[in-house]
Amino acid sequence: MTLDDKIARVKDLIGKREEIDAELAVLLSGAAREPRKMRCSICDTEGHTARTCTQKTGAA
Ligand SMILES: [Zn+2]
Repeated sequence: MTLDDKIARVKDLIGKREEIDAELAVLLSGAAREPRKMRCSICDTEGHTARTCTQKTGAA
């Protein structure tokens, strides 16, 4: 492997790493596709939905 080959390989790997980092950032921040804001229709509080509400009345 020549020095040029190594440099090309390094650039290739760095490019891939940047792609992975970018995707991880999106996944970990949850920013891009999935809006985090959800509001409960039962107690009108942000952070959970009616489905996961702990203030349901009636249901055991
Ligand atoms: Zn609730």
